[in-house]
Amino acid sequence: MDIFKFRVGLRRALLEQVGEIQNANGWYGWDTTTPNSIIRRSLEATLNEYVTAAGMYGFFVVTRHSNCSNPKHRGYPTTTRNGARIVYRDKGYLWEGGQLFQGQRFCACPCSAKNEPEWHHVIDDVIFKKGIDLEECRRLEFVFLGICAAIGNAGDKQSRSGIREHLLQAILTLNDAILPQTVDAYIASRETGDWPS
Ligand SMILES: [Zn+2]
Ligand SMILES: [Zn+2]
Repeated sequence: MDIFKFRVGLRRALLEQVGEIQNANGWYGWDTTTPNSIIRRSLEATLNEYVTAAGMYGFFVVTRHSNCSNPKHRGYPTTTRNGARIVYRDKGYLWEGGQLFQGQRFCACPCSAKNEPEWHHVIDDVIFKKGIDLEECRRLEFVFLGICAAIGNAGDKQSRSGIREHLLQAILTLNDAILPQTVDAYIASRETGDWPS
């Protein structure tokens, strides 16, 4: 997929989600709008799909499993969403410290193939393959962080505006990347009179 189609597809998915988020009408004692749990799952599916696909542009999320109930667990065994084998601090990648998530997750720690899923502490590190387009990767990181923040705001009883706000910021970033120049650059060119009127 070329990067243009990638951005357009992700933008469309996020716009759809924003369109489905209505304010909860809890005032009346019942609420017929989409519950936050469904919004959250839908956002998680979009995030997962596009983070996985972003590997082709050198953008990866490596999950470090920091502990588990296996007594032989050592250090930070890792997994990735697209099956890439990347060890913690792998020298082929830039580890700039960005994280999409840190906290408890129900999953099987990869320190042994015999491990069963359990709740344990994980860290989703954002890393970039060395030698790729860094500007693109940092923009993807910003967009994905926006989706993560929206997911973080999609808990029970949390307001819908918090979810929308983060998604709209991600969409604005994608808009600028999709157009031949950013809206800010366009405005500046009009103001300095460079633009044929
Ligand atoms: Zn795990
Ligand atoms: Zn383990």
